[in-house]
Parts: sequence; structure tokens; C-alpha cells
Amino acid sequence: MTHTDADVAALRAHVDQLFPAVQADLESLVRIPSVSASAFDASHVVASAEAVAALLRDVGLPEVQILRSERPDGTPGAPAVVARRPAPAGAPTVLLYAHHDVQPPGDAAAWDTEPFEPVQRGERLFGRGAADDKAGVMAHVGALRALAALGEEPGVGVTVFVEGEEEAGSPSFSRFLADHHALLSADVIVVADSTNWKVGVPALTTSLRGLVDGVVGVEVLDHAVHSGMFGGPVLDANLLLARLLTTLHDDAGTVAVDGLTSAGEPEVDYAEADFRADSSVLDGVRLAGEGTIAGRLWTKPAISVIGVDATDVAHASNTLAPRAAAKLSVRIPPGLDPQAAEDALRAHLTAHAPFGARVTWTPGEQGKAFGAPDDSAAMRAARSAFAAAWGTDPVDIGVGGSIPFIADLLEAFPEAAVLVTGVEDPDSRAHGANESVHLGELRKVLVAEALLLRGLGGR
Ligand SMILES: [Zn+2]
Repeated sequence: MTHTDADVAALRAHVDQLFPAVQADLESLVRIPSVSASAFDASHVVASAEAVAALLRDVGLPEVQILRSERPDGTPGAPAVVARRPAPAGAPTVLLYAHHDVQPPGDAAAWDTEPFEPVQRGERLFGRGAADDKAGVMAHVGALRALAALGEEPGVGVTVFVEGEEEAGSPSFSRFLADHHALLSADVIVVADSTNWKVGVPALTTSLRGLVDGVVGVEVLDHAVHSGMFGGPVLDANLLLARLLTTLHDDAGTVAVDGLTSAGEPEVDYAEADFRADSSVLDGVRLAGEGTIAGRLWTKPAISVIGVDATDVAHASNTLAPRAAAKLSVRIPPGLDPQAAEDALRAHLTAHAPFGARVTWTPGEQGKAFGAPDDSAAMRAARSAFAAAWGTDPVDIGVGGSIPFIADLLEAFPEAAVLVTGVEDPDSRAHGANESVHLGELRKVLVAEALLLRGLGGR
């Protein structure tokens, strides 16, 4: 799919013309404090769902609904908005995802402006949700408006799906996909909830690490005994746990568990100085692992100890601890099955039982990694649309964490091509104080998404 310069210029001109209204609508959405965390007033999430439904009705989608599904605990999930225009005969359907809920504002003192009062400074619009993900909502609305302004119906079916509890971990999401499977069914899913590489350089998020966690226990004695009377011939459980945990990495800090494989190196890297600043690692601390920093974050496994059960210092007595436990969190690269990763981890822990101590493993959560295919019709359409909108080729990036709902989407619609696109840039500070979207980039996002819809429709 190629987009002619004249086509792109015409579309850009329309986007420029309608952008003030898009920005005004984004500002109205930001003014609704739709925090989905349970401690906050849920009526704002209802109000933002209604505002999003109105925007989608306005863009001419014939079917607009506000729907909820039950959470696993039996309580109702937050309202999601689903708006559709069925596909012309023989044409594919594209699902455009975003979420209308936001993170809590956090420490008010850390904000330079009011979190729920949008303020433009220079090219950036500040406010909670201005980027994550109300800009994603407006990317879909704006792209549809731009095509409508050109008198075009995209030659595809369009379903816009705007979730209301992504920032709360999407608790009713998998149920929602089951309850409304036919309504949401699509050939291509565009998830506008990630980041571009930098201002001026678009990106597709092509890999997300998955997750395996659980608790490893070490038992060495039936009961605690005096450390003076018995210490020496037997090591306490705290020490044995520490010895076991150190076997998980080699001396360079690379994961040393057989079967926890890596995917290939990414095409872009994360500068060490930036990583040090962003992660707040202390001066003088050497980084762990090998290869590029981006690879260590996106395409290699990582094991962290996120909690330890041991006698706390205030209650310590001169006894040998009989047992100790640690919660492990393992990030796994695309291509590695979570169960295979967990099996490999359990086998490693058992095989490395220090001094023959009893080692137990209690499984926790599993989340699948995501790896986009290198090449597919949808990926080609996205790359070509991005290149035309920005005037520079997009790069493939990864995210070290997971976006859990993407695994749910893939499970519900295994045949669909998932494109993870961005409205953020590295300065957007999603979830943090002073969140913002770059308005020049948002214009390009609108152009790119309109071109993408056209491209997927074969134009
Ligand atoms: Zn988000």
C-alpha cells in the first residue's frame, strides 16, 4: 500500500482544519476525572463513558452502546463504549481500542498545573489522561472525522471499543470479550495505548514481555532451634533461601535458568545514561546482563525477588529459622510460553536445592507475552501509513512490562492481527505528575490512523 503525496497532503490539510475541535474535545474529556481505581467516585467514569459515546455518535457511527460485564468478584465492571459501522460486503473489520479511564492524579504537589484542568504550554497539552489514553480515544474519533471530512467512508467495518477500567487492571475484560464476542469480532485490532519512539519518530510496539510469578519456599528444620546449640552443622532457612536465589543469575547478572530463552535483539537501543536516569540506579552500581539495554528490557527474561518471608529484624532471636520463602516475578520474552517458563523455573529451583533442603513452589499468576509477526498485511499497512504521516519510517519497539488485556484480546480473537500504536512519546509521563501529549504528534497520529484505515480497506 502506498499513499501518494497528494493524498497525504489533502488528508493533512483536513486534519489541520479539524484539529482545534479535536483538541477542544480532548480537553473536555480531560476535565472529567474518570479515575477507575476503586477508592475514587465511579460516577466520573460513567460521565466519561457518556461523553465518549456522544463523540462516537457524532462521528456518524450508527450503533453506539454503553455496556458493562461482571467482574470475577460478581460486581459490575466499569462502563465501556462500543460503536460500530458494519463492514461492507467482503471487507475486513477493524477494531479500534482505547480506554477512557485514567490513573489517579497522585501527589497534587508534584503537578505544575491542576491535573484535571487541561493547560497547553508550547506544543504540549498537560492533564491527567491527556495522553493515556484520552488521546487514544481522540485518535480514533479524529481519524474518522478526517475521513468523513473528505467525504470518505473507510472501506472497512469499524468498531470502536473504549474500555473504562484499563488502569484498574481490566478486571471485567475477559468476561466482556466473551459476553460481546460477536459484536467485537474483528480482523485487525488497533490498540492506541502505547508510545512512539520519540517526537518525530513513530513506532509500532511489536513485543511485550509476559509474566510468571509464584512463591519459592525453603524448609530445613521441623521447628526453630537455638542458634548457639545447633548453629554450624546446619544452615538456617534464610541463608539457604539466599543461596538458592543467587543461582538464578550468573556473576554478570544474566538469568541462568535453563529454558528461559531470549528473543532476538531489538532494532533500536535505550541509551545507558537514559536508562540510569529513568530507573534511578545509584552512581557506581554496575548494570546486570549482556547485550543491548533494550534487549535486556524487552526480549530477554528477567527475574526479580519482589517479596521475602523471613523473621523481621525487630523480632529476631538467636534461633535458626526453619523455613523462609520468596515471591519471584519473572518477565518472559515473546515466543516463550508461560507454562514452559514456569516449568523451567520450578525445575531449576528443585535441582538447586541447597544442602538438600526441601524446596517448594506455589504458582501465582501467568500472563502471555506478545510478539507481532515481522510481516503481515496489517503490519505493512501500518508501516506505510506511519511512514507517510511522519515522513520517516517507524521503528519496532518493545515494552518490558505487559499490557494484560492484549493477551485477553489474542485469546478471544486468535485470528486477528493486533497493531499496538502510540499516542505518547518518552516525555508524556503517563501515570506520573505533569502528564502531557505532544499536539504536533497527535496530528500525525490522526493522519496515520486515517491512512491506516484507508490502507486496510485496500485504498
Ligand atoms: Zn493506557
